[in-house]
Amino acid sequence: MKTFSKLIGCMVLSMLLAVAAMAQEAKPVSTVLITNANILDTNKGKLAEDMSLLVEGNKIAKIAKSIPAPDGATVIDAGGRTITPGLIDTHVHLFWNVGEMSLMYQSPEYIAALTLVEAKATLMRGYTSVRDTGGPVLGVKKAIDQGYFEGPRIWAGEAGIGMTAGHVDLRPYHQRPRPFGGAEWSDLEAIGVAVLADGVPEVLAAARLQMRKGAHFLKTFSSGAVSGLYDPLDIGEYSFEELKAAADEAKRWNTYLAVHTYNDAGTQRALEAGAMSIEHAHLLTEPTVKLIAEKGAYLSTQTGVYLAPAPSGWTDDQKAKQQQAAAGLDTLFALAKKHKVKIALGTDLAGSLEGKKLQKVELTNRLKWFTPAEILKHATVNNAELLSWSGPRNPYPGKLGVVEEGALADLLLVDGNPLENLALFEDPDKNLLVIMKDGKIYKNTL
Ligand SMILES: [Zn+2]
Repeated sequence: MKTFSKLIGCMVLSMLLAVAAMAQEAKPVSTVLITNANILDTNKGKLAEDMSLLVEGNKIAKIAKSIPAPDGATVIDAGGRTITPGLIDTHVHLFWNVGEMSLMYQSPEYIAALTLVEAKATLMRGYTSVRDTGGPVLGVKKAIDQGYFEGPRIWAGEAGIGMTAGHVDLRPYHQRPRPFGGAEWSDLEAIGVAVLADGVPEVLAAARLQMRKGAHFLKTFSSGAVSGLYDPLDIGEYSFEELKAAADEAKRWNTYLAVHTYNDAGTQRALEAGAMSIEHAHLLTEPTVKLIAEKGAYLSTQTGVYLAPAPSGWTDDQKAKQQQAAAGLDTLFALAKKHKVKIALGTDLAGSLEGKKLQKVELTNRLKWFTPAEILKHATVNNAELLSWSGPRNPYPGKLGVVEEGALADLLLVDGNPLENLALFEDPDKNLLVIMKDGKIYKNTL
């Protein structure tokens, strides 16, 4: 009996020693203490002055007037500057850095290489999270998440699901059509930019293909498109049944459907089918905007790509559609405010790395319709809520879009007060002194 208890004692002791050794081997949690900072509450549009903030690992551990520096912590004296949540862009196409027609004739590795360049540029503009609404990005996301490259958190819809003649039918006019039944894929589909699907069975298969790849939500189209080659803005894309098939499939994966649409009929059809994120929507009238509010869906409208110069190579028809959409912004945003629609903020910039630099002016573009506090709330709190709608498909569970204890540590240190000067974000190289994502410092010029 004595020997037995001795044996047990030895076993317990060796187990304890093993646990202690493991604890010593475990990587120490990195800690960053930022002192002497004003913290922006983007929910309320208020600054808390002269605060300290402690980041442990990838989360904000503590916010208080004064926090003693833990051993080994990196200490940053903010010098009275402002901590804001990292910005979020809910409508990007990270892969799309060449003209849409040349996209089909580039090699996939060239597209991937430029995507990585754009991902880093996005992070350095202060956008720590993006929702990619169409294009092959899951591989790039994986490499970024693994730490091989720098870039934002990415939520991906992967290939946009569209109909023949619709927005993502970018096949050359004279290209031999694929046989009915879809035996052959076009160049565009082969690189994963989009997938053409007609009829409920094909839409279901296309939706399931994206979820199989690991998409976090689904994206489809219910009206013509500005950059589309064969689809005027007034037309309806996809029948109610096709849209419902996509929305139902998204729901079965416990996520949601985002729908590109400009006109009333297309938007109403998408909402009745169950879409929860309405993209663009520039030409809507009051009953449709009211319906968005009633359904509790997000209005995900962009200004960037509409107010920017037309990309080179665009036809007169594409340019005219861009003007038409831009002209709708005044009415749309006035109606959205009137009906208290949930507003997301995004850019939809595409076509060149140079053109995508306009992401820097998306916030200030909106001063025509919203206050700085409202714009910052859209870009952080609202956008984070929309991202969270991916539910169990959300790749980064945790709280985003706020600076509060327990939230994921995605932070910017801004050289000034953005509530008084939103234009600080127009020059991120100069005015964003610290950029942190997931507790890791990607830039620190202090
Ligand atoms: Zn888009």
